[in-house]
Amino acid sequence: MKMNDAYAQYCQHVREQGLPGEILVPSCLQHAPQKKGTKTRLSREEKRSLFIELFREVAVCQRCPLHTGRHKAVFGAGNVDASVFVIGEAPGFSEDQKGLPFVGKAGELLTKMMQAISLSRHEDLFISNIVKCRPPENRDPATDEAQTCLPYLEKQISIVQPRAILLLGRVAAHTLLQETDSIKSLQNHVFHYKNIPLMVTYHPAALLRNASLKKVPGKPCSDFVPC
Ligand code: SF4
Repeated sequence: MKMNDAYAQYCQHVREQGLPGEILVPSCLQHAPQKKGTKTRLSREEKRSLFIELFREVAVCQRCPLHTGRHKAVFGAGNVDASVFVIGEAPGFSEDQKGLPFVGKAGELLTKMMQAISLSRHEDLFISNIVKCRPPENRDPATDEAQTCLPYLEKQISIVQPRAILLLGRVAAHTLLQETDSIKSLQNHVFHYKNIPLMVTYHPAALLRNASLKKVPGKPCSDFVPC
């Protein structure tokens, strides 16, 4: 499928799901009128300064046991003024070593997934995780660890003020939405988090482990993952 066809099909899917068609088109979003009741938007400089303060807090955080095994806390990366906030589950080995989210093969796939829907990783996205420190042996974060770390993510979202949120994988979806359904079921809906449209799709690592997931119909992003 050509990229333009894929993007047109994606937009149609987004509209069918009830999400405004322009929600994932950053150039349109930048000119979108502000909704009534929407908080005043922070300036880029205000966002930067709030992020630096929060980054310093996360870097030395010891609120949950995950701090004992970390090499570096992974705060997140991207544009503080991003249109779309992407949320994974937890740092893995490479992320922990580098202090950056979504590096390695899963990160490359995420970049391709976003490029396929005309989103630049560095300009249009801010990427973070449910927990900022690597769980031992790459296990899923425990519920109490996720809940302890969640206020950092909530604060990040409130600073970035994104126009849309994309959750990658079961841990992110279940923690933020407090749902227990499968990704297959959740990805067919548009949710809202504090009035921000939110969508769910498979984690790139899951797509790498199981290529057949790319073929499941109705997914918003992974339909267009280059095979
Ligand atoms: S995972 Fe979150 S709450 Fe736990 S130590 Fe790291 S930054 Fe703190």
